[in-house]
Amino acid sequence: MSEQHTLLEELLATALVEVQTDDLKSLNDVRVKYLGKKGPIQEAMKAMKGMEPEARKEFGQLVNTVKGQIAAAVENRLLELEQAAIAQRLANETLDITLPAQNLHTGSIHPLQQVVDDITAFFRSMGYEAAEGPEVETDFYNFEMLNLPHDHPARDMQDSFYVDPHRLLRTHTSGVQARTFESRTEAQLPIKVICPGKVYRRDDDDATHSHQFMQIEAFIVDENISMANLKGTLQALARHLFGADREIRLRPSFFPFTEPSVEVDVSCAKCNGAGCNVCKQTGWIEILGAGLIHPNVLTMTGFDPQKVSGFALGMGVERIAMLKYGIEDIRHFYVNDLRFLNQFKR
Ligand SMILES: [Zn+2]
Repeated sequence: MSEQHTLLEELLATALVEVQTDDLKSLNDVRVKYLGKKGPIQEAMKAMKGMEPEARKEFGQLVNTVKGQIAAAVENRLLELEQAAIAQRLANETLDITLPAQNLHTGSIHPLQQVVDDITAFFRSMGYEAAEGPEVETDFYNFEMLNLPHDHPARDMQDSFYVDPHRLLRTHTSGVQARTFESRTEAQLPIKVICPGKVYRRDDDDATHSHQFMQIEAFIVDENISMANLKGTLQALARHLFGADREIRLRPSFFPFTEPSVEVDVSCAKCNGAGCNVCKQTGWIEILGAGLIHPNVLTMTGFDPQKVSGFALGMGVERIAMLKYGIEDIRHFYVNDLRFLNQFKR
């Protein structure tokens, strides 16, 4: 064994001792000292160049072995030190999992939106699609296309918020009806649409009226749609909203865009028809207006009233919510009092 061999063996032995240091910095120093560019291993590799081929091969193998062993020792020690550091942290830090969690402040869905979602889901389950329309609507779609001619009292400036002579804040969601009918043809029947949205009227604000409120309108156009279809839908809706044993009553009414038109009453859920303060001793509560779509509306939007027919129904979301939850003042919905809103957390 040559002198160089002996030196390498000694080098390895010293390195393996020095590697057993206790901190990361001195471990890195050891690595640089032995394996770095100016270290003894690199020196030994340079020395190989002048050797005979046989000797160079043998010596080269030894250098590589020594280099590998030092590198592996450094790597092992590094792992040991890291694991020791983790063990140290685990021992020092304690986590008390019995401490109460931080309060998460979650909001809740507004009661009006809950009613909208509920009614929308009900109609969707019967194959209706949801549609939306602009809140600033033209006179044409808000009135004219719905069989409300120029001299109709509902068009009075007193009742509506006009933006300019031809546009206003919509007074009902029925404009969506006209827009929908116009965009469809008889080949696309049946048309089954539900349309929730905000509407605006110049009512005086009091306990049951607001200048802005929400409406939901549902309408269908197909062949052979009759009052029987309307009544069945209303019955199912009333029971969905107010309970399985509710009855409905239809009273003749007038709306320009339906013929015949009806007001729909539901039997009072509180007194079951006997008479109480909620139903003003009548046993019935008015919930919405409906009717068969007026032939003029169908004609104006390109449908032949001899071939197709339809019904429409519209209700005030606030009114439904007030009845459903026993709320006596409509203004509770708009003042954002958390004591009120928190009662509707689901
Ligand atoms: Zn009652």
